[in-house]
Amino acid sequence: MANSIEHRLLVMSGKGGVGKSSIAVNLAVWLARQGKQVGLLDVDIHGPSIPKLLGLEGARLQAGDDGIEPLAFDRALKAVSIGLMLNNPNEAVIWRGPMKHNLIQQFVENVCWGALDYLVVDCPPGTGDEALSTVQVLGAIDGVLIVTTPQDLAVLDVRKCVTFCKQLSLPVLGVIENMSGFVCPHCLKRTDVFAGTGAERIAADFNVPHLGSIPLDPALALACDAGKPFMDFAADSPTAQALAHAFGRMPNEPKRQIETKENHQMKIAIPLAGGRLSAHFGHCEQFALVSVDPESKIITEQVLLNPPPHEPGVLPKWLAEQGATAIIAGGMGQRAQRLFADNNIEVIVGAPAETPEELVSNYLAGALKTGENICDH
Ligand code: ADP
Repeated sequence: MANSIEHRLLVMSGKGGVGKSSIAVNLAVWLARQGKQVGLLDVDIHGPSIPKLLGLEGARLQAGDDGIEPLAFDRALKAVSIGLMLNNPNEAVIWRGPMKHNLIQQFVENVCWGALDYLVVDCPPGTGDEALSTVQVLGAIDGVLIVTTPQDLAVLDVRKCVTFCKQLSLPVLGVIENMSGFVCPHCLKRTDVFAGTGAERIAADFNVPHLGSIPLDPALALACDAGKPFMDFAADSPTAQALAHAFGRMPNEPKRQIETKENHQMKIAIPLAGGRLSAHFGHCEQFALVSVDPESKIITEQVLLNPPPHEPGVLPKWLAEQGATAIIAGGMGQRAQRLFADNNIEVIVGAPAETPEELVSNYLAGALKTGENICDH
């Protein structure tokens, strides 16, 4: 199956019901109407909304010779959702993390997406299993669009979303405030239904763009219920224009996750055996991933990770997905060094069998003693 996906965008929110799926659908339609080929992936496994929002309820995904065929909304937009697999819309999916991870992996790797300019991913609310699996499976994320509503309760959870993005070095494209005031269709007076200015506060506190505000609009709710994307259904309305304006303010060339890493935390990976650096990084027991604040050069966190089974080329990609920016190793072959470099991971070889703390502290102080690259093969 030859998939090529140019840009991967996530739509996230801290809370349910803030209009994240509605915005994800309208973003996908807006991109499609700009002449882009777009895939819309619904990874909200417990509450899939995309089939309903695209009027695809009752349709089913089919397996083709090469994998799962996404459902075509039209020639420019295809969608995949677990809601397009369930026999009964009332069926509850009761799954634990690993099953959800496998499904998300299949949705990315076993779906015949073909050549896409954009894959828009509608994440479930919050920062749980699905969001993490999606980030791991997609690898490079070009940007995350965050949806909030104005009130404090939503803002509290959306802040966690922004922190999640920062911790995983995901570029935040900006925040959209939805349900931001209601303009009475009769007297045209605006009423702020929810107190607060959620997006503005998040934007200021986290230094991310506030892309725009979308009013509460009964026509949008009706369009959602009728399965008609609002950008098609009422393209000239002020609300559709507010959506288009907000989408149009997203950075044109979203930066890849890898390119923005240096703005965020340094994460140094160290292969371990018995709690000390293992000279054989390909067959080590565990990796320590040590996070360092790049400005203060202080170690902020250390986690131990179990690597996937050894296979050539797997570790550089896996460590890149974990957010590693450097690896301190004993010995490493030239090919592996190239693969790490391709994944933007700096390689330091010839380090001694010390503990992760000793190695990272010495490295940060410019005092790491490196010897021979002892298993260069
Ligand atoms: P989420 O994905 O955050 O759970 P949804 O996109 O499913 O939220 O939206 C929740 C409900 O709110 C839907 O019924 C939708 O039609 C409605 N809705 C979303 N945004 C607006 C809006 N700006 N004006 C009116 N109704 C909206």
